[in-house]
Amino acid sequence: MDLDLSKISPEEHEELQRNVFMTTLEQLKAWARSNSLWPMTFGLACCAIEMMGTGGSHYDLDRFGVIFRTSPRQSDVMIVAGTVTKKMGPLLRKLYDQMPEPKWVIAMGSCATAGGPYVKSYAVVKGVDQIVPVDVYIPGCPPNPAALIYGINKLQEKIRYEAKTGKRVTSQ
Ligand code: SF4
Repeated sequence: MDLDLSKISPEEHEELQRNVFMTTLEQLKAWARSNSLWPMTFGLACCAIEMMGTGGSHYDLDRFGVIFRTSPRQSDVMIVAGTVTKKMGPLLRKLYDQMPEPKWVIAMGSCATAGGPYVKSYAVVKGVDQIVPVDVYIPGCPPNPAALIYGINKLQEKIRYEAKTGKRVTSQ
């Protein structure tokens, strides 16, 4: 039965506006996913200390639905926190490939985004986006927990935006 909006009272109209919303299944899934991100712990250097601090009780990442996992099979976000060496690169890629789709990557700190203070080292990758596609870059050496939370919030917005527009935007 079709609802004729011209025949309902202003009170009923207000009630409908408060209690009924329209969306697509894709947007609903993206809303649920963005509020239950499970990052794989990928602490490689000093930035990892800030990442661990963000997961602790003071900053309490759980309130955003963010629960760290130790297995790539159970993760949908990789937070690369630290210096990526050329030896570590293939292992990082292997673990990324083991994560199920859909998946996202956050490059935390200047080492992960562009090599950081070790940019001139022959042994360091100049940004993890040379190995895996990156969704969010967080600058800083190291970024503090507030910056990581901001980056996670940006990723949540991105996931919902991608579901709305059907466009996937990454560094690769
Ligand atoms: S960005 Fe700075 S704090 Fe983070 S891993 Fe590199 S050197 Fe350490």
